[in-house]
Amino acid sequence: MTSAWRFVLLGLAAASLSMSARAQGTDYSKIEITTEKIAPNLYLLSGSAGLDPAHQDAAGGRIGVLAGADGILMVDSQYGQLTDKVAAAIKRISAAPIRYLVNTHIHIDHTGGNAAFAKMGATIFAREELREEMLHPPRAANGNLAPARDPAGVPVVTYTMGAPLKFHMNGEIVDFIPIRAAHTGGDTIIRFENANVILIGDFYRNFGYPYIDIANGGSLKGMLEGLDALMKLADANTRLVPGHGTIINKTDLVPYRDMIVAVQTKVQQLIAQGKSQQEVLAAKVTAPFDAKVAGGLLPAGAGTSADRFVTEIYQELRPRK
Ligand SMILES: [Zn+2]
Repeated sequence: MTSAWRFVLLGLAAASLSMSARAQGTDYSKIEITTEKIAPNLYLLSGSAGLDPAHQDAAGGRIGVLAGADGILMVDSQYGQLTDKVAAAIKRISAAPIRYLVNTHIHIDHTGGNAAFAKMGATIFAREELREEMLHPPRAANGNLAPARDPAGVPVVTYTMGAPLKFHMNGEIVDFIPIRAAHTGGDTIIRFENANVILIGDFYRNFGYPYIDIANGGSLKGMLEGLDALMKLADANTRLVPGHGTIINKTDLVPYRDMIVAVQTKVQQLIAQGKSQQEVLAAKVTAPFDAKVAGGLLPAGAGTSADRFVTEIYQELRPRK
C-alpha cells in the first residue's frame, strides 16, 4: 500500500468516526458478519450485537444480497471498516460477481463500503438526491466541513421520485422505490416481488426512536408518507426488513405511525403554547412510549434517541418568522 493510499484510508476511517460520533469507540476488528437466508436466493447480512454504540442490537446497517447465476445485487454496503468481512460473507453465498449495489440512504453504516465494492466491479445505484448529498455534504454540527468521500463510492446511476426502477435477475423482480424525504432526502425502499420482502432502510426502526436526519434532507412529513407507502405496498405476508432491528410485518407499522403522530401532536400543542425547544424537551413528551421503544432512552448524538426525535419534530414544526 502506498503511503498516499494509507493516508486516504486513515482519513476515511477518521471521517466515518467523526461523521458519526455515534460510532466512536467501535472496535471493528471484533465485529463479525452473520448471514441469514430469508428466501431461496435472498440473504441478509448483519453485524454482531453489543459492539457498535450507535447500534447495540447489530453493528452497522443490515445488507441484503440477491444471489444467483445472473450475478449479485446487494442492498447497502455497511461501514467501510467491515468490507473484507462483508465480501467474505457474500463469497460464501455465491462466487458470482457483485454487479449492482443500491443504497437505501446516505449514512456511513449503509454506504461506507461503496468505494471498495465499486472497485470490485459493482455499479452503484441511488437517488439523485443521495448522490448530491454525497458530493456536497452538510457541515457537521460543530461547523466543520464534512470529510471528502472516496469518489469511487459515489453512485453512478441515479433516479428521482417517480416510477420504481425495476431489475429482472435471478428469477426475481427487484423494485427500487423512491420515498420522499423521510430518514434522509434520498431514501429508497427495495422490494423483492417474488420473495415478498421489502428492505425499508432506516425510516422505520424498532431500536431507538425514529431518526429524521434534517441536515441530510429528512423530514417528519416524508417519514409519515413513507410509512403510508409501505402500508400500501405490503400485504399480510410481506416481510419488512429495517436497516436496524427485527423483521416486522405490516401490522407493526400501525403503532409505530400512531406513536409518531401522538408525539407530533404533543409537540405541536406545546409550540402553540409558546414553549421553546428546551421546554419541549423538558416536558418528556415521549414518556408514554418509553417503556415500549427498545433502546429509546439510550444515547444518540447529543442526548437520548427520544431527545433527538423530539428535537427533530420541534425543528420541523417550530414557528418561523
Ligand atoms: Zn441511517
